[in-house]
Amino acid sequence: MDLPDDCDVAIVGAGPAGLACALTLKGKGLTIKIFDKKAFPRSKPCGGGLGIRAIHTLQKLSPYNHNLLDNFEGKTPIDGFEVTTPKHKNYSFSLKNDYTLTQPLGYTVNRYDFDAYLLQNLLDNTNIQFYPQTKVTKILKHEDKVEFLANGELMKASLVIDATGVDQIREKSLRNNWAFAITSFVKYLHLEENQHNKLQFYFTPLIYPGYFWIFPLSEGLANVGLFVPKKYFKSSLLQLRHYFFELIQSDSLLAAQFQSASLASPLQGGWLPLGYPKGTYSKGRILKVGDAACLVDPLAGEGIGNALLSGHVAGLHILQAFNENNFSDEFLSSYNHIITDTFDHEFKFRHRIVKYLSKHPKAFERCFHYLNTSDDFRKFIFKFFISSHDASRMG
Ligand SMILES: Cc1cc2nc3c(=O)[nH]c(=O)nc-3n(C[C@H](O)[C@H](O)[C@H](O)COP(=O)(O)OP(=O)(O)OC[C@H]3O[C@@H](n4cnc5c(N)ncnc54)[C@H](O)[C@@H]3O)c2cc1C
Repeated sequence: MDLPDDCDVAIVGAGPAGLACALTLKGKGLTIKIFDKKAFPRSKPCGGGLGIRAIHTLQKLSPYNHNLLDNFEGKTPIDGFEVTTPKHKNYSFSLKNDYTLTQPLGYTVNRYDFDAYLLQNLLDNTNIQFYPQTKVTKILKHEDKVEFLANGELMKASLVIDATGVDQIREKSLRNNWAFAITSFVKYLHLEENQHNKLQFYFTPLIYPGYFWIFPLSEGLANVGLFVPKKYFKSSLLQLRHYFFELIQSDSLLAAQFQSASLASPLQGGWLPLGYPKGTYSKGRILKVGDAACLVDPLAGEGIGNALLSGHVAGLHILQAFNENNFSDEFLSSYNHIITDTFDHEFKFRHRIVKYLSKHPKAFERCFHYLNTSDDFRKFIFKFFISSHDASRMG
């Protein structure tokens, strides 16, 4: 394979984090190489829920008013959600009623198509090269460059983006603070007319404060799965598969929806490295983004928005380094502060909410009761969460 050995920026991992970084750097005159160990398009176990932060960051990444998300056909707009509480109370919220929405509050996508679409938007630039099925190993830092092996061949870059996701994180002890999720695509699921554009969350006692999700997709498909914060799950994770089938067969609400449904893909699992305060996001000329930096939202398990945002932030930092020809340790390590300032406060707050709700399930029940009965409370809470996830102010 032809791997010319030098570039300005090497991006390792072609998920949303690495690709957002590349989109930020695109057209700025830098030579960029993107590596992924898998053949593309590739599947990635994921619910494919894009929230407000993902939407706003994609808008920032859209060059010349060519809105990336507008031009992606495989998306399903989301304008509300349904929650079933551990006491089996069901609430349905349409955010359309509370806000004059100029755009959906979220979308669902199939990651196989979505990541491939982002990549496709990069490859029309001759300064950007993509190397699929190329595993990067042995990254060695030097004062003025980084050396690494790409499928065994020695390469050099001025800066490296570690966008390798969760696979490469070696500190297994961190997993006690992470979440685990299993997911599958499902066809022939029964959805009421008003459920086609809603996310559904089922909180059940065994996995609470985790949940079972149903995310509608286009073409009669849905993405379903279980999200389980490890710290609060006392059984073995091996039980989750069994619990998944038990739930869709015997929970009265779910069994009705799944009566004629069948799995359209194998159940797949994966870790979600939940964000925790004071992470380390850079080492010399290597900047971490997305899951590799442990940036998944501790409350809802959303990682795509933070992956895109951190990739964009890293891209802006790199541009500044090249524009000012400043590759000093002091400047590069200030990326740590930028990511800390962007996420730390939010992570702390959201961990606290999960901890509180896990100890006080009655408060969780009451909260949804009030959300359902009090317009003012609902508007206040939704506005708070929507604005706290707004990325248009960041980066
Ligand atoms: C079951 C499940 C459901 C989820 N549902 C949602 C959801 O609905 N909404 C949401 O926002 N988030 C969800 N997440 C989280 C979300 O999937 C991740 O946060 C997101 O994919 C992170 O993006 P990333 O670019 O950091 O990493 P990834 O998307 O994991 O990409 C990393 C890439 O790096 C490549 N790579 C790894 N090592 C190497 C190497 N050495 N050399 C070359 N390439 C390498 C991999 O092949 C991969 O393509 C879910 C996660 C799981 C596990």
